[in-house]
Amino acid sequence: MGYKEDSYKILAEQIIQKLKERNMDGAYFATAEQCKNEILQEIPQGASVTWGGSVTITDMGLIDAVKSNPGMIAKDRMTAKTPEEKRTFYSQQTLCDYFLMSTNAITLDGQLVNIDGAGGRVACLITGPSHVFVIAGMNKVESDLDAAMKRVRNFAAPANNLRLSHNTPCTKAGRCCDCLTSECICNQIVVTRRSGIAGRIKVFLIGETLGY
Ligand code: SF4
Repeated sequence: MGYKEDSYKILAEQIIQKLKERNMDGAYFATAEQCKNEILQEIPQGASVTWGGSVTITDMGLIDAVKSNPGMIAKDRMTAKTPEEKRTFYSQQTLCDYFLMSTNAITLDGQLVNIDGAGGRVACLITGPSHVFVIAGMNKVESDLDAAMKRVRNFAAPANNLRLSHNTPCTKAGRCCDCLTSECICNQIVVTRRSGIAGRIKVFLIGETLGY
């Protein structure tokens, strides 16, 4: 390992300690591949698994691995097309055993910061699925809540809006313009400072740059 990887590991160990104080579990992996393999081991056969929109978990091949695993019951949100189907899907999603997502930012003291347009992703983070696995590259780590908010609004949100072809001011400015437009993905800004249920949320930190 190089010095950068070493420093990621040292930093991650401190964040994991802070997560424990907040009733959350944590783990660190040097690579996304190692992390994916561990997650596939931790999810028991027969479990229902669903996920929120995430470049991180898509790019690391986790979604495909879950969908192709005959021992897991994958609940794919993309199968719901109409508003009524989406509503029905959401009701099923909240009862799943496992919910996979990334986070838009994580602070050094273990707080998660997430934005959401429709709200289903942060809703499942807050309550519903029995287990929530949050998977994030170390590029999502910020020093404190203020820096995390800035990251979310000035970096993550504009990039995600561009990915989704949304017509929001940040896609022109490259930073948040505090919009109130119909395609805004910052309708909800959620800070997870503690898990009400011990160990319900587990954060998997990865020593790579993943998502945005
Ligand atoms: S509030 Fe609007 S302008 Fe700001 S990041 Fe979110 S979508 Fe973009």
